Amino acid sequence: MQELTHWIDGKHVKGTSGRFTDVYNPATGEVQAKVPLATVEELNAAVARAAEAQVAWGDTNPQRRARVMMKFGALINEHMDELAELVSREHGKTLPDGRGDVQRGLEVVEVCMGGPSLLKGEYTDAGGPGIDLYSMRQPLGVVAGITPFNFPAMIPLWKLAPALTCGNAMILKPSERCPSTSLRLAELLKEAGLPDGVLQVVNGDKEVVDAILDNETVAGVGFVGSTPIAQYIYGRAATNGKRAQCFGGAKNHMIIMPDADMDKAADALVGAGFGAAGERCMAISVAVPVGKETADTLVEKLMPRIEKLKVGPYTAGDDVDYGPVITQAAKDRILGLIDSGVAQGADLVVDGRDFTLQGYENGYFVGPSMFDNVTPDMDIYKEEIFGPVLSQVRTDSYEEALKLTMDNPYGNGTAIFTADGDTARDFAHRVNVGMVGINFPIPVPLSYHTFGGWKKSAFGDLNQYGPDAFRFYTKTKTVTARWFSGIKEGGEFNFKAME
Ligand code: NAD
Repeated sequence: MQELTHWIDGKHVKGTSGRFTDVYNPATGEVQAKVPLATVEELNAAVARAAEAQVAWGDTNPQRRARVMMKFGALINEHMDELAELVSREHGKTLPDGRGDVQRGLEVVEVCMGGPSLLKGEYTDAGGPGIDLYSMRQPLGVVAGITPFNFPAMIPLWKLAPALTCGNAMILKPSERCPSTSLRLAELLKEAGLPDGVLQVVNGDKEVVDAILDNETVAGVGFVGSTPIAQYIYGRAATNGKRAQCFGGAKNHMIIMPDADMDKAADALVGAGFGAAGERCMAISVAVPVGKETADTLVEKLMPRIEKLKVGPYTAGDDVDYGPVITQAAKDRILGLIDSGVAQGADLVVDGRDFTLQGYENGYFVGPSMFDNVTPDMDIYKEEIFGPVLSQVRTDSYEEALKLTMDNPYGNGTAIFTADGDTARDFAHRVNVGMVGINFPIPVPLSYHTFGGWKKSAFGDLNQYGPDAFRFYTKTKTVTARWFSGIKEGGEFNFKAME
């Protein structure tokens, strides 16, 4: 069995803690590797080395740092299929979806190739008599990225590319479920010219995360994961004086108006609800049709589409719509929530509970399920299921659908399907959610915009990638300069006698 490593000072380094956790193949349930869980001492040594390496890297001119990103981007493209397979092997998502995972991360690297233009400062000429002001953006020093299992390439790239381009060193702590992609990205960064020590990949669990949060040298923490952990990390990092942005879970609603193109809405819901087995923070998990006829039509159109979905291992190629969920525990939790929905009175119109796949009986596959007549007091509405389960909550009016979306504690993404520009515009303006789709189910913004939810989906300030990331990973220094009148007023050229 493969023993994975940390990546320290430009090399693979074995863990010394003696503690490991298993990395599974979710399609078969087999253990395919073990990953070391670092100690506080291992983390502190990695941070100390990163701090040394950061000095020269922070002094490297921005354009040279951007050139490392250019080469890195080229290498990611060259190794696209290999990276996608690494993602799929540990996560279970289909290969096209694995490629999408790498691609959406690569797009952030591409923006970082033009990073110097986002690092320019500001200047006020003659802010007072003989006084000019200028501000510069300087790196924070050593920062940390703590990432979830569900995008093993994209989210580490969202963290490390802007952080490094800004001149920081980074400690990357990937999910212990899917660590291999981060280790491979570190190798490619070295090949692209990143100096040793500037990116350290330290594997581990809560012990190493707490060590990061308590390490005095770590100046900033970027986290992505579930809401309770996001809130915990934000609190502990802030108490310790660190800059922190912590992105959490989601419960994304899609409103379907009576004038929507119902076939397009149904297609969108199937892709956004069940793609990647529902394990996306931008998945649509709640369909909110307005009016009885809309709701009835939607169920009629959704059921055959959902029943046709093909579930299987990534190795089955293009013949599969989605793969297994991440662990047996995740599968058990999802099945338990489906049972609770039935017990609490929702109508299970598509039941995926008994799904099995010949030859993959020990894999963590869950068939697609859909509930109708879900109400906000049910656990399937309150919890982020993070599985292939779509809930339909019926409403009688646009205002009721909007209020439902706004009353939900999460605020990551939302969508509306309608043919009416005025309704769409009103929705986009009023809804208290960070990313909004209009006839677009998964509105993940392009890499030169920024990504971030509201309410319980994000703690801290500023979004991920785009210009916000360049603000998060730099601090501003402002200089007020005055030069007294001097030689230009007429120099003293005579040999002056002592007065
Ligand atoms: P998770 O919160 O379990 O783990 C995320 C990271 O935190 C991992 O690196 C893990 O090792 C670490 N961690 C876990 N428990 C910890 C603890 N008690 N103390 C300290 N660190 C701990 O999340 P996950 O299951 O890997 O990912 C799925 C979640 O991430 C979902 O809730 C999903 O919505 C969310 N997510 C959010 C976004 C976003 O941008 N808002 C993007 C992707 C995923």
